[in-house]
Amino acid sequence: MYTLTPYSRLSRVPRHHHRPCRATISTHPSAVAAPPRLDDVTRMSPTNVAIHDPSSLRSTWSHRAWVATGFASVLSSLAKSVAAAADSGSVVEPLLAAYVGYILADLGTGIYHWAIDNYGGPSTPVFGSQIEAFQGHHRWPWTITRRQFANNLHALARSVALAVLPIEALLYAGGGDAASHAFVGTCAGCVMLSQQFHAWAHEKRSRLPAAVAALQEAGVLVSRPSHAAHHREPYNTNYCIVSGVWNAALDRWKVFEAAEMLIFFRFGVRPRSWSETQSEWREETEAATKP
Ligand SMILES: [Zn+2]
Ligand SMILES: [Zn+2]
Repeated sequence: MYTLTPYSRLSRVPRHHHRPCRATISTHPSAVAAPPRLDDVTRMSPTNVAIHDPSSLRSTWSHRAWVATGFASVLSSLAKSVAAAADSGSVVEPLLAAYVGYILADLGTGIYHWAIDNYGGPSTPVFGSQIEAFQGHHRWPWTITRRQFANNLHALARSVALAVLPIEALLYAGGGDAASHAFVGTCAGCVMLSQQFHAWAHEKRSRLPAAVAALQEAGVLVSRPSHAAHHREPYNTNYCIVSGVWNAALDRWKVFEAAEMLIFFRFGVRPRSWSETQSEWREETEAATKP
């Protein structure tokens, strides 16, 4: 088994809570070319908006509109799949395609979660607010269970709507079959709902609907113990949040660590998980955050 852990090769960045955000490289200069200065890349202090402004947990009409649009695009894909399956009499292929969509959605959420946990910052175009929100989630994870449904889902719902509508238009123009619509609808639906699955993974078992608890225990939805491992040291595992089925393989084979090493040695950019494991990623207790 190879070892790609950065801790054995790179010294940790010392803790300075109020330093400006900046990429910091501590590897010997002969080993790696001087890295580009990349503000925001490494250290970050997310804003504790959810605690100091409880209204930030509520859904707005714009959140609800995006979630409705996301659902409409997903349900439209699935309806086209059902209609095409009824026409062709083929059921097995669309069901298999839907299953593949569900499995790949888990992998997709893992890759996306890893990327925004580790790279960029609040000022990163397009993804800045998501990056800050996820870093805030590591510090104050319980707040996700208090977010209203559309508040929690609107960012992914907007991405899903903007991606699915053109994909479906292309499929329609190309005479897409039941399987392709089933794949797109299921994959997009699981990605959109992944933040709800994530919220359920943080909820107390006694507060979960019985069906959700059963699906978590069956491994259909990401389980609470599996996701809890993401919030413990070394804070760089269990990124997938649909079913979590990919987590064991991705972590066993150190896939993300390999990608981090590749990015570091190619572009000189350190992921946050190499240097923030002792401070910014650490969960604060709810009592400690009370004003
Ligand atoms: Zn995370
Ligand atoms: Zn979480």
